[in-house]
Amino acid sequence: MKPGNRHTRPHVPPRLHFSGAKVLGDVLVERLYLRAACRSCSHRASLSSVELAQRLGYDFPLPDLKGRLRCSKCGKRQVDVTAVEPAR
Ligand SMILES: [Zn+2]
Repeated sequence: MKPGNRHTRPHVPPRLHFSGAKVLGDVLVERLYLRAACRSCSHRASLSSVELAQRLGYDFPLPDLKGRLRCSKCGKRQVDVTAVEPAR
């Protein structure tokens, strides 16, 4: 039994693209999108990187988003953000 097997998804997961994108501007340039996942209630949402960049700045570091976002479902600030390359 390998750890991580419980994350098996029905279709191919989008490739993670975290290494290249470090700030919100990178996300726009590389045409990625942002996925937010709540660690508390497992609520998931996709974020508008354009909106975030306009609000927080194009040089806002992605790791800092975690402290800025609040889950729209349970209201906790335990949100993980990942930059994802859209499936083609
Ligand atoms: Zn939540």
